[in-house]
Amino acid sequence: MFTVNKQIAFLTKHDKQHQIAPIINTELNAEIIHTDKFDTDKLGTFDHKIQRKLRADEAAIKKAYLACELTNLNQGIGSEGSFNSFMGLSLVDQEIIAFVDIERKLEIVAMAQQSVPLGLIEAKNSEELKRKLNTNSYISSNSQRWMIWLNNQWNKGVKRNSLLAEEYAFPIKIEPDLRAMHCPARQEVIKLATQDLIKRLTSFCPQCNQINFVEKIKPNQIEYLACEICSLPTNQPKPPSCICDECGYTESNSDNQNKGSAFYCNYCNP
Ligand SMILES: [Zn+2]
Ligand SMILES: [Zn+2]
Repeated sequence: MFTVNKQIAFLTKHDKQHQIAPIINTELNAEIIHTDKFDTDKLGTFDHKIQRKLRADEAAIKKAYLACELTNLNQGIGSEGSFNSFMGLSLVDQEIIAFVDIERKLEIVAMAQQSVPLGLIEAKNSEELKRKLNTNSYISSNSQRWMIWLNNQWNKGVKRNSLLAEEYAFPIKIEPDLRAMHCPARQEVIKLATQDLIKRLTSFCPQCNQINFVEKIKPNQIEYLACEICSLPTNQPKPPSCICDECGYTESNSDNQNKGSAFYCNYCNP
């Protein structure tokens, strides 16, 4: 039977333990043992300066094993964030948190994603810069740091106050510093991913007691609901069911969603 150990190792050099540890402590009554004895940037950086060779989930799992190795603990956590631009408009942050248990040979991958209202700012003068640095609460937060292009290189971790105080030669170009410790919008997504991990670590299969009994899409197999009127398959996908990784037991927890809407039926609503 799975139990959470008193101590769980966590490898990060970007201070993500400040978001993860309080939640793990409150929800699981476990202590996060933080380590930064391995430079996680060696596995690639999210700005692609160091190319990532592993997929995000693989990298998070790798960091979780490294965390165990560096601390001599049996349970470990690793995390990996990545940004994608959605139609060139908004930036979507995906945060993955992986949990491993060496003794029980378990790998659990939790995830959250959310758009972050941050992006490149260009300003021709100080008034424009001031106005653009007040667009929303994430941009105007003093905790959000910035990168400024000066003398042919990015100066990182620049505070908002110094951007507004310094006499820069305009026009200037600044970008948000998206490293976790400098980005409150990203910290929110890391907390959401931690909540997803808590859910996975505390949801047990009714048949074999394995954890991670949560809603999942069956790989390579999307099923469609039958039409409420004619019973032919509609174009409406079945809601995800809880599936056990260990014994395969499946439970649909949406009894009211066994029939598809005739609106999605090619026969009733061609
Ligand atoms: Zn099971
Ligand atoms: Zn129909």
